[in-house]
Amino acid sequence: MVIYHLSMECFPVAKVGGLGDVVGALPKYQNKIPGIQARVVMPWYNREYVRSHEFESVFEGWIHQNQTPYAVEVLKQKDSTLGFELYLVRIPGLLDRENPYGYWDESQQYLAFQHAALHWLSAMSRKVDVLHCHDSHTGLVPFLIEHCPEFEPLRGVRTIGTIHNGEYQGQMHWEMLSYFPPVRDRAHLGLLDWDGKINPLAAMIKCAHAFNAVSMGYMEELLVDFKGLECLIQMERAKAYGIINGIDTEIWDPQTDSHLPYHYKKSTALEGKAKNKAIVCEAFGLNPDLPLFGFIGRFAGEKGADFLPAIIVESIVRTYGALNIIVLGSGDPGLEKTLEELTLKFSNFALGLGYNEGLSHQIYAASDFLLMPSRVEPCGLNQMYAMRYGTVPIVRYTGGLKDTVKDISSGGAGLNFTYASSEACVEAMLRALSLYQQVPTMKALVHSNMDFDFSWERSAKNYVTLYESY
Ligand code: ADP
Repeated sequence: MVIYHLSMECFPVAKVGGLGDVVGALPKYQNKIPGIQARVVMPWYNREYVRSHEFESVFEGWIHQNQTPYAVEVLKQKDSTLGFELYLVRIPGLLDRENPYGYWDESQQYLAFQHAALHWLSAMSRKVDVLHCHDSHTGLVPFLIEHCPEFEPLRGVRTIGTIHNGEYQGQMHWEMLSYFPPVRDRAHLGLLDWDGKINPLAAMIKCAHAFNAVSMGYMEELLVDFKGLECLIQMERAKAYGIINGIDTEIWDPQTDSHLPYHYKKSTALEGKAKNKAIVCEAFGLNPDLPLFGFIGRFAGEKGADFLPAIIVESIVRTYGALNIIVLGSGDPGLEKTLEELTLKFSNFALGLGYNEGLSHQIYAASDFLLMPSRVEPCGLNQMYAMRYGTVPIVRYTGGLKDTVKDISSGGAGLNFTYASSEACVEAMLRALSLYQQVPTMKALVHSNMDFDFSWERSAKNYVTLYESY
C-alpha cells in the first residue's frame, strides 16, 4: 500500500508545532509495517535542512492559477535517513519561502501546493493507494481529485483527512475559485462551501472517505463545538474517528537526546534531571534548589498563554517565591512584551523568546512540572514528551489531555484542573508543590511517568487499519 502524506510541516525540515512532529514520525513508523510504503510531500522551504541536504529533481511542469502560469518542480531527498521518501514541491514566487505560514497570499500558496502535488502524481501516473491530508491546508485534495479532470488518474483514490487543529479552517472568498484548477461540473461546487465561503476543512470532512481528530477527547468536543462546523461533523459522523498521536521515541529519548547536556534513564533519572536543571537554571539565573515549572508553546489563546502573566505573579506571590517558572515560546506580541517585563520584576521567572528546539528538550528534561493551561488541545504532545523525560504534567482537562493525563488523586500521572483560568492553574501548582515535598511519592511518579508507552507503533497501525477499511 502506497501512502502519500501531504502536509505543510514535517520535522526536521520545517516544524511550527505538533503537525510537524506528527508528519515527521507517523510515516516512519508506518514504514515499519510490512507492505506499507509511506511518503511525505510538502512545500519547498528556503531553510537550513533543505540547503544542507541533497535533493534530485524528479518532475518539472506547469500549473495555472487565475490564468497565470507557474513553474513547478518536485525534488526528492537523495538519502532516506528520515525513514521515508521526502518530496518537496517548489514553485518560484509561491513555494520558495522561509516559513510555512504567515504570508498575505497563504490561501493561494496552499492551493498551489495541493494543485502542484496532484498534478505531479497524476502526470507521472504514480501508484497511489492513499492520500492522507493533514489539516485545512491540504483539505481540498479529496474534492480536487474527484471533481477536476486534470487529476483523472487519481479519481477514486482513498483519501483520509486528519484534523490536527480545527481552529484554522482556511476559509477564503469565492473569488478565489479562479485560482482553482478547472472543475468538471459546477453543480458540485457546493461541496466547497460553508457559510458562504470556500472552507477547505469543511470540504475535507464532506469529501474524504474518512477523517479523524488526533484524540478521541478532541473529536467528542468537535461534535459540540467546532467553530460553526458542528452540524456538518454530526452529519458526517459515520466516517469520523479519533486516533491519538504518538511520539517519536527515537528522537525523544533522554538516554540519547543530543540536545541534553546530561543523559539519563529511569534508574538515573533523579540525578540526571537535577544536573540538567542546574545547567538551565544557571543559564537563566534561577535558583536550582527550587522546583521548576516549565511552559513551552505558541503564545496563542488555544494554549492558554494569556493566563501566563497572572499564573506567574499569583504563584510566585502566593508561595513567597518558593518556585521557579520558565517559559519558552513566541506569538502574541503584547504577551511577549508583558512577559519580558515580568522577568525584570521577578527573579523566579525566566523567559526564552522564539522557537528553540534544543532549549525545548532541555526544559522538558530540567523541569519538575510542565504547565499546560490550554483552552483547546487537540492532542498535545508536550505532556507526552514531559512524561518521557520524567516530568509531571499539570494540564487543563480538555481534548487529548483528557485522554493522556489522569490526575494523581485517581492514580494518574499528573495534575488536572477543569476550568480554563489562571486561578485553577495556580491551585494545581500549589498541589504540585506539596507533592514535590513528598519525596518518595514524587520520585515514584518520575519513574512511573518514564514507563508510559506513547510510541507511534499502535497509532500507526490504527491509521493503516482505517485506510484498509475504505
Ligand atoms: P501545537 O501543534 O498546537 O502547537 P502540540 O502540543 O501538538 O501543539 O506540539 C507542540 C510542539 O511544538 C512540541 O514539540 C513543542 O515542544 C514544540 N514547540 C512549541 N513551541 C516551541 C518553541 N518556542 N521552541 C521549540 N519548540 C516548541
